[in-house]
Amino acid sequence: MKWEGRRKSTNFEDHRGGMSKKMGGGIIGIILLLVGAYFGVDLSGVAPLLEGGNTVVSNQPVQESAQEERLREFSQTVLAETENTWGRLFAQSGKNYIQPIMVAYRDRDNTGCGLGQAAMGPFYCPADQRVYLDFSFYNDMKTQLKADGEFAWAYVIAHEVGHHVQNLLGISSKTQAAQRQTDQVSANKISVLVELQADCFAGVWAHDVQGQGLLEAGDVEKAFNAAQAVGDDRLQQQSQGRVIPDAFTHGSSAQRLAWFKRGLQSGDPRACDTFDGQIRYW
Ligand SMILES: [Zn+2]
Repeated sequence: MKWEGRRKSTNFEDHRGGMSKKMGGGIIGIILLLVGAYFGVDLSGVAPLLEGGNTVVSNQPVQESAQEERLREFSQTVLAETENTWGRLFAQSGKNYIQPIMVAYRDRDNTGCGLGQAAMGPFYCPADQRVYLDFSFYNDMKTQLKADGEFAWAYVIAHEVGHHVQNLLGISSKTQAAQRQTDQVSANKISVLVELQADCFAGVWAHDVQGQGLLEAGDVEKAFNAAQAVGDDRLQQQSQGRVIPDAFTHGSSAQRLAWFKRGLQSGDPRACDTFDGQIRYW
């Protein structure tokens, strides 16, 4: 993506200086809120999410490598482009787009949804309207998921912003309410529809970027590859050696690719109706 020199979003908080202080303790119960919103990749097996107390961020200076600096600037630029795209699409349909905040953190961070951990992969917290990123995931994608490239990372950010769009449209509250009233297998099916829509919304954003002539050779393929790399079937095969469709929460590789493509080809959020008309959202 041709991004250098373009506008960088200032909706950015750097928590990488560390979280030095612990406040209180006890179980953080709102973690479940995150389950439908995280990226779908848990690189460490089951993360001990219920451990630890609330933490506050200290304003320690951030040390970043040249690679991290570039990735931060790229991430801020991608965020700015999502602000442009969604700001325009919302305005065109008479809606007001509230811009999300991007938070960079290392290892763990206190969020409006409980303790966030790098092992969960990137995630969006609806309670504080923030996208949480540990930049080390960029390398994890490359080495563990074989999904490298800056535009693969752009897809990740656009997917999380997609969850923010769902939050603003009232989709998140409706699907969470439905999930609370049903069994685990059905709740997982709802989760898949939510995630595939976020993939489609990421595609809607990519369509806009493509239309501006900002894509470079291989970018679209990098995003296609990343969407497939985080399919539940592939991740389950890698971690457990078998595939359990009832346990899917994000959709198969084929589904994730198909919905991303749908958004990319249409550039229209209305093409992202994974709920088949059961939720009015646009
Ligand atoms: Zn997601």
